Amino acid sequence: MAAPTLTEPLIEAEAERLLRVLMNVDCEPQGRKWNLDTCREIAPLTLEINRLKKEKNAVILTHSYVEPEIIYGVGDFKGDSYYLSLKAKESKADMIVFAGVVFMAETAKILSPDATVVVPDRGSGCSLADSITGDQLRKLKAAYPDAAVVCYINSTAEVKAECDVCVTSGNVYHIIANLPQRRILFVPDRLMGHNIRDELKRRGIDKELITSDGTCMVHEEFTVAQIAEARAQFPGLKVVSHPECPPDVAAASDFVGSTGAMLQYVKSTVAPYFLMLTECGLVGRLEVEDPEKTFIGGCRLCPYMKLNSLEKVRDALRAPRPDQIVTLDEDLRRRAAHSIERMFELAPKS
Ligand code: SF4
Repeated sequence: MAAPTLTEPLIEAEAERLLRVLMNVDCEPQGRKWNLDTCREIAPLTLEINRLKKEKNAVILTHSYVEPEIIYGVGDFKGDSYYLSLKAKESKADMIVFAGVVFMAETAKILSPDATVVVPDRGSGCSLADSITGDQLRKLKAAYPDAAVVCYINSTAEVKAECDVCVTSGNVYHIIANLPQRRILFVPDRLMGHNIRDELKRRGIDKELITSDGTCMVHEEFTVAQIAEARAQFPGLKVVSHPECPPDVAAASDFVGSTGAMLQYVKSTVAPYFLMLTECGLVGRLEVEDPEKTFIGGCRLCPYMKLNSLEKVRDALRAPRPDQIVTLDEDLRRRAAHSIERMFELAPKS
């Protein structure tokens, strides 16, 4: 089927639609500001992607950390990796384009084995997920044979396949508290492991937590000195951080939670200023969805998330190259699916 001609009025209307959404994005660390000219530049691309999406019965899942023109220009769902994994599971689409990083697209493939799952850029790894291989985890399991093996959702399919249960930052306490084993082998995030250990202790839950040595290269960089400086400069400031941050940073924050929980916290909190100790993409989302709030600098870029672009989304949708298509060995996929299904079983029912 021939692509319809993109007429000037069509492009102008699309540029105006994009500008209405993107005009409030102030936190643009890549240096781009949204005005009618920049929206006119991307309008032919967003029009083409949205047309291809219908033609291919595809759905585009966008992580909150990717560029706002992807989230608001062509995304069908936006959120953190847990929310998007639920959307992948519910999806009836023939094709899933995952604008995020590779381990997230693998999770989509684990839950939607019949769909063609594609990633815009195969290089979009993750310092955390890539910190441990299945082989290394098997060695750790052999050293702690009595431990329940729990993996954070930010892990590869290979690692998920070795675990008893997968968790998110939102359900980890409930799930660990209800596991029969006292000893827990938690991978791959060492800093999040520290934060979980502190919180379990605070809640009076007696567990021994052993962690591997991974960290998120974005969240590990935040410091208590940065918080102290910001509090001195901005009275009434609320500091919001992710549990992948160092434990002293989490302890000095007003709120600690997953990407989704941070979003909800800011939307429901009245304060003159917010300092978001997380990836800058979340600040961009909040500027679009809650333009009355004021954010002071502090967020950081994830270079992997920023490998996604509208051009790559278009190419992956139009004619995916083999390196853009996520494939998993069926036995490994089933074992990884088991750890995620266990999470759905054991997570608190809302
Ligand atoms: S922000 Fe951290 S955890 Fe998320 S993809 Fe980037 S490196 Fe991985």
